[in-house]
Amino acid sequence: MKEENAASPAALRQRPLDWINIAFLTLTPLLAVGGTVWYALHYGVSMVELGLFLAMYLCTGLAVTGGYHRYYSHRTYDCSRALQLFYLVFGAAAAENSALKWASDHRDHHRFVDTDRDPYNILRGGLYAHVGWIFYKDERGKARYGNVPDLLKDPLVVWQDRHYLALLVLFGFALPAGVGALAGRPLGGLLWGGLLRCVLVQHMTFCINSLAHLYGRRTYSDTGTARDSWWLGLLTFGEGYHNFHHKFQADYRNGVRWYQFDLSKWWLQGMRLFGQAWRFKRVPEALILKARLEVQARSVERRLAQANAPERMWSLVLARVGAGRQRLEAAYAEYQLARLEHKRHKALGLDGRRHWRLAVKACRRDLIEARRRWKALLKAMNRIAYPSPQQAFSLMAALDIFRGRHF
Ligand SMILES: [Zn+2]
Ligand SMILES: [Zn+2]
Repeated sequence: MKEENAASPAALRQRPLDWINIAFLTLTPLLAVGGTVWYALHYGVSMVELGLFLAMYLCTGLAVTGGYHRYYSHRTYDCSRALQLFYLVFGAAAAENSALKWASDHRDHHRFVDTDRDPYNILRGGLYAHVGWIFYKDERGKARYGNVPDLLKDPLVVWQDRHYLALLVLFGFALPAGVGALAGRPLGGLLWGGLLRCVLVQHMTFCINSLAHLYGRRTYSDTGTARDSWWLGLLTFGEGYHNFHHKFQADYRNGVRWYQFDLSKWWLQGMRLFGQAWRFKRVPEALILKARLEVQARSVERRLAQANAPERMWSLVLARVGAGRQRLEAAYAEYQLARLEHKRHKALGLDGRRHWRLAVKACRRDLIEARRRWKALLKAMNRIAYPSPQQAFSLMAALDIFRGRHF
């Protein structure tokens, strides 16, 4: 079937190049950089340009990450029509296609990741995943929309798809130029709030398809190419925590820890305060922990295999790993249960509040201890050297650690 291998090398050779996209994606960066430098040299840089750049960058960036991605592609929460309209208008202004096409491509990306049916398959190379895939015409016609039946039923989405180009010109370029004109600097507004912003937001998104599948840690899943990196999270409104996202795409967060920079998550929490977004989906912490431990356990197995560990050590280590995981997961479940019970007793003013408060403390201690032991186990495994002249010695050293009272 044609659409099944749309990105395979053979299919790509047959797909015609999309010269409009090629021209847009190669000329806009040149115009944006050349234009803003020329304008700055002749007219300087005022707060009007900087303000327009920042405002347009935030609006279009959040429309893509919070709207196109976390709302339309993954349905990780519900939101008001006003917020949907904001996403659609400024999503069009980001010049990354209509929400319908973007979400359709993105759902295929998740479903068929790292295969020929993934529209921006990283295995075809970083440049192809970054921008190359847009250089080819998509000839699937309406067949491509088989994976977005919910969006086809949404009149706002269909309206945006129909008027995408007009919205792009109006809100992506005429709006910043118009606001700039009010301050007597229409060209400055167009260059900074329109062109330069457009190029940077586009490449911010493209980086998720390329860099987030190349660099970083695979904390929650080691079966695909998606990776987590804090520096990409900073640059991409939080989307750089891509390994977590691929594992738990239904979660509205990408940076799942409170300290992980995820501007889109904080934007959505702000929208909740204003009553514009609700019913946020969150993956239970226990499942997240389970995923992480599975990946760590597999890394121990890989290390044993690479070190060519003897049979006796395999069984000893795997038994320890299994027991450590079980202990940690059980300690976590008990801690969560005690916390919930304490909360419930407190809210209802029930007897036994003191009992549950002490239980929470005890469970927290157990959890900390189970974590410490698990970390010590992983650390001990990391001391096992890869095959080397000292291999026998290293394996014996690791065995000694197991026999000892290190965990
Ligand atoms: Zn996604
Ligand atoms: Zn991805």
